Amino acid sequence: MLDNALKLVNELVAHNYKAYIVGGFVRDYLLGIDSQDVDIATNATPKEIKEVFEDSFLPTEDYGSVIVKKYGIRFEITTFRKEFSYKNHRKPVEIQYIDDLYQDLLRRDFTVNSICIDENGEIIDFLGGRDDLNRKLIRSIGDANEKFREDALRILRAIRFATVLDFQLDTEVVQAIRDCRHLLSSISYQRKKEELDKIFASGYAKKGIELLLEFHLDKNLELEHLSDVLNTNSLVGIWSVLDVDNIYPFSNNEKEMMKDIRDVLKLNNLDPMALYHYGLYVNSVAAEMKGMDKKKVTESYNSLVIHSRGDLDISSEEIMKALDREPGEYLSDIYETIEREVLYRRIPNHKQQLLSYIEKNFASNL
Ligand code: ATP
Ligand code: MG
Repeated sequence: MLDNALKLVNELVAHNYKAYIVGGFVRDYLLGIDSQDVDIATNATPKEIKEVFEDSFLPTEDYGSVIVKKYGIRFEITTFRKEFSYKNHRKPVEIQYIDDLYQDLLRRDFTVNSICIDENGEIIDFLGGRDDLNRKLIRSIGDANEKFREDALRILRAIRFATVLDFQLDTEVVQAIRDCRHLLSSISYQRKKEELDKIFASGYAKKGIELLLEFHLDKNLELEHLSDVLNTNSLVGIWSVLDVDNIYPFSNNEKEMMKDIRDVLKLNNLDPMALYHYGLYVNSVAAEMKGMDKKKVTESYNSLVIHSRGDLDISSEEIMKALDREPGEYLSDIYETIEREVLYRRIPNHKQQLLSYIEKNFASNL
């Protein structure tokens, strides 16, 4: 990946621009972690970047990054910039393109995110990022308080990096989080959720949750149930326990699944009806959140007599014929009853037995 990223940097350099790999890729590369995408900083403007890479995508917003997809990698190319007058503790209102890498690095958040690789593969580290990587330390570039006041999302980014990388927060960062945590209310739920997703999906999610609780960010983030999250192996499981679908943005699918998981959390996960009705995935997540043995849930699920209505050894035509009736609402009553009886093994899933059960119980009272 580094070789390909350097090729892209060299294309910009061949056009007489300055260009460096920066940010998450360099940080993770030095830590031996694979990256998903690569950030590039350059003095070329978006228009100029677009001229170098024909099939690139111009940013959708003013001063955004140009996205280039090449060698199967997503590159985010950002013009060196100075940022002014942040409004409401979020994105800056005014940006000025500049020619100088060092100045561009100063506007960034943490030292470990400011290390660069130049076109020859040499490391450039103006702000002591490598020392902090070695010390496993999240340290602010410049005054932490000021950085968090400019953009309060950086508070969550600090916690995200401390969590995902299993790093410590610098004492100045710790103090600044305490001073500025109330500013999180000015950040959109979408941006906050993106960071929280990364914290919760991390192998060190437990540490992340402990940090959030230690700083009382559960209050600022409206995560009332954060201390109830005991098991952290499932992202959707964590969000289900948090029960904030009406505050944070989720797709309808996710909302439905979280509701199901919350329902199942109240039930016995080894109950055949719960397994049948909510399916293996939802039950496994709920079991995980309860600290139950997931294998047992899978075994119980696999040993269900039926897994769907189609598994019943009877069709609706056969039911209608046996009762000599037209289709109607009554069929779903019958189905629900025989599903339950078969699942609890009170009647076998055999056509003849099912038919005689239906005739006996439903023929007269329908
Ligand atoms: P990831 O592994 O999630 O990509 P990243 O550090 O690369 O982590 P990005 O959001 O891709 O994060 O941003 C790229 C770089 O831009 C960061 O490393 C940092 O230098 C800078 N940056 C991003 N967001 C901010 C911010 N809110 N404030 C200051 N600098 C930021
Ligand atoms: Mg990145």
